[in-house]
Amino acid sequence: MEITDRYSATGRPAPDPKTMCKGDCEGMGFYPTRNKKEWPKGAKPDEIGYVFVRCKPCNGTGRRDKKGMVPDIGGDVKKLRKAIGGK
Ligand SMILES: [Zn+2]
Repeated sequence: MEITDRYSATGRPAPDPKTMCKGDCEGMGFYPTRNKKEWPKGAKPDEIGYVFVRCKPCNGTGRRDKKGMVPDIGGDVKKLRKAIGGK
């Protein structure tokens, strides 16, 4: 699996640096780990030993704001900027 191109690999757009999670997921909401302590119960690793786990800081959203999530504002850029504390 090619980690460096995982945005296009999963069909998700690359995250906006202004709103992307600063946790281990790098804006994906999930991240691969080989640490068995982080795996959910019953997780089966892929052929190279990784399991994708939900990112705790963003709770799987890949985004952040004051509450750790950006609310769904239907693509309104002004509302989005306000929501994330910008101008
Ligand atoms: Zn995250």
